Amino acid sequence: MNILDIIEKKKIGQKLSKEEIDYFVDGVCKGYIKDFQTTSLLMAICINDLDFDEIYNLTDAMVRSGDVVDLSDLGTCVDKHSTGGVSDTTTLCLVPILADLGVKVAKMSGRSLGFTGGTADKLEVFHGYKTELSTTKFKDLIKKNGASMVSPSQNLALADKIIYKLRSESGTVNNMGLIASSIMSKKIACGAKIIFIDCKYGNGAFMKTIKDAKKLAKIMVEIGKRAGIKVCVIISNMEQPLTNYIGNNLEVYSSIQVLNGANNDLSKLSSFIASKILVIDGKAKNLEDAKIMVKNAIKSKSALNKLKELVVAQEGSTECIDNPKILLKHSNSFEIKADKSGYVYKINTELLGDLSHKLQFFDNIYTRQDDVGFILNKRIGDEVKKGDLLLTCHYNKIQDKQEFVKQLNSCFVIDDKKKRMKLIDCVIE
Ligand code: URA
Repeated sequence: MNILDIIEKKKIGQKLSKEEIDYFVDGVCKGYIKDFQTTSLLMAICINDLDFDEIYNLTDAMVRSGDVVDLSDLGTCVDKHSTGGVSDTTTLCLVPILADLGVKVAKMSGRSLGFTGGTADKLEVFHGYKTELSTTKFKDLIKKNGASMVSPSQNLALADKIIYKLRSESGTVNNMGLIASSIMSKKIACGAKIIFIDCKYGNGAFMKTIKDAKKLAKIMVEIGKRAGIKVCVIISNMEQPLTNYIGNNLEVYSSIQVLNGANNDLSKLSSFIASKILVIDGKAKNLEDAKIMVKNAIKSKSALNKLKELVVAQEGSTECIDNPKILLKHSNSFEIKADKSGYVYKINTELLGDLSHKLQFFDNIYTRQDDVGFILNKRIGDEVKKGDLLLTCHYNKIQDKQEFVKQLNSCFVIDDKKKRMKLIDCVIE
């Protein structure tokens, strides 16, 4: 077998066999297939697509390319994944709620990717929190506390790590089959038997339309079926940041607010997902019962106490859980105000995510600053008067402040029309 024949085949739109896909993934990991050959095949895939067999075989080969975590001795474990959004801090609310209600949660979370945030970064807001644990320790903590939140080992779905980097450098990220196999290979390798995926659509998500989000969801559910794993996907809105807080400290603040009883889009989404999982995992008879269980876990503060337990177990400080206001501390700030009256019609969520990254990685890409970001004061559909506060920016340093302010202003479209946003579109399973 050789890679040139495989590239030629996909170039003219032919189907690749399981053996050819295995060969490709093996060659990528062992280095006998060169980066330029990999990106050439990826581009051919972007142009001619993969059918379902090819997507499944690619997923399966990528799972086998690295470590696979065996959680079978723990009983049924649940994992949750978001396809990526801005101010999406659902995991930090969801995991303690579920663990408190007896669901075993094995949560592996990535770092921020492009304009989207990453849960592993947010966990480090709890100073000292260890995101990298051995599998044995990870499993011990799930046994003891009902959950653990870690970042995956370097070797998990190794091929995806290599291929993902090449995709992001070669304009080949945006292909449904490549995205589905990338997400599912990592999730299957994590070892959970129930995977809940929050598939985001909108201008702050990888999938820009509901139609594409549903297509991706169906592929992931089918991959799960073939792999013997229950996959449930919710299609949810990312036309605006999920909460009014963007940036690591601010997002942790907003998740603590939810565990303290705040009622907003984040609490609605977290409660819905938690309730669905409670039913799937057999902990609740139906969605109505599950919703009551979730409500009580929040009201009694037992989910908040569970978060503390989980953070302490991984050596993190709980100071900001006891005193969330410290997460609002910042060096400098400025405000963005409405330049006309009307209703907030559109929020450029992807650009807000990008700008928030610029603040976070001001000095260099390796030094993350967590005390920066944005606090939104208005959401889509809100009425505004000229001069009303739209957003407050917390920052340490900004290179070209004038340009930055201009871009922030451009994130808001105000119109005479009032638009309504639906948070949850549907569930596919
Ligand atoms: N998230 C992933 O893990 N992979 C993709 O390809 C897109 C989003």
